[in-house]
Amino acid sequence: MLERGGKPLFLESLAVLAALPGMAGGAVVVPEGWEEKAAPWLAAYPAFRVVRGGPQRHDSVWAGLQALPEEVSLVLVHDAARPFLPWDVGERCLAEAAVWGGAVAALPPADTVATVGEGGEVVKVPPRRGLRLLQTPQVFRASLLLKAHRWLREEKPDLEVTDDVGLVLAYLREHPQEEGRIVAVEGSHHLRKITYPWDWDWARDRGRSFRAGLGYDIHRLVEGRPLILGGVTIPHDRGLLGHSDADVLCHAVADALLGAAGLGDIGQHFPDSDPRYHGADSRQLLRRAATMVRDAGWEIASVDSVVVAEAPRLQPYKRAMEGELAKAMGISPSQVSVKATTHEGMGPQGRGEAISAQAVVLLVKREEGAMP
Ligand code: MG
Repeated sequence: MLERGGKPLFLESLAVLAALPGMAGGAVVVPEGWEEKAAPWLAAYPAFRVVRGGPQRHDSVWAGLQALPEEVSLVLVHDAARPFLPWDVGERCLAEAAVWGGAVAALPPADTVATVGEGGEVVKVPPRRGLRLLQTPQVFRASLLLKAHRWLREEKPDLEVTDDVGLVLAYLREHPQEEGRIVAVEGSHHLRKITYPWDWDWARDRGRSFRAGLGYDIHRLVEGRPLILGGVTIPHDRGLLGHSDADVLCHAVADALLGAAGLGDIGQHFPDSDPRYHGADSRQLLRRAATMVRDAGWEIASVDSVVVAEAPRLQPYKRAMEGELAKAMGISPSQVSVKATTHEGMGPQGRGEAISAQAVVLLVKREEGAMP
């Protein structure tokens, strides 16, 4: 039984299946020995039962069929190894099967498909236009699927079938009086079957492709220091006090970057106690944070920020700050936003004793195969 985050993988698709319109109930077929482990997870789905599977796929489907609620009109068969079932694909399969007798989620192959002989020799390359890769769900009129499985068990035990579409098709061919067709409906790349180790990596990372991060910093305004915000030196009678250049905006953005990637905070990576950062240009610190985030497999999608300062007026410097921040992070200025506000005379920022900054960043998981 496959698991993800300590929970059985079948829960992912079960949550969608159980909510499909008209769903009366079902069976979760698990390998022998897993029944007790799986059952507690079904507490929220009283119409679904855990059933022990058999040695072959069709034995497991048969076991599931025996456990279905009575008088169902359609049966949907789905692989638990395809955990991410888009709602609309489930609905489409049910709707089409109600009309035709059978429906299967399918995708056109991206590669050329060939028949290869025993010795590896390519024998035939059929035209790609008519080819489909069959996924699940596979939905059938209940009576049709039951008859096909009974036929297999009682009359054709040696028939080689890999899925229910293959079985029902073989049954229909031998029983021309039986009504029914199986239609291919548009499947989804999200229905990828967890088969190989790299599929497993994909499943683990799915749903974790975005991360948001929040950063905040405040420094005291004192005389005799330059005012540097977002890497831009801004004329003012005072500047920010700190071990480095005390650029609150760079610090807030760097902290947001690190937080989003789960890499801690700037205090941890660039400590005040480290003489290397005495008087340091905070753009360098921001550049290093961005590199760490990239090395961890993330792309920076957007940065938004706000500087809280009673004075000076920051409006004329916003573009320059966005440009400097973008350059330090290696992204486009169009992905960076700097805003400024006063504190209405309240608190340390309002009294002109300090300037603070907040930043929010969005990271996107780098696509497989994309340039680093
Ligand atoms: Mg700071």
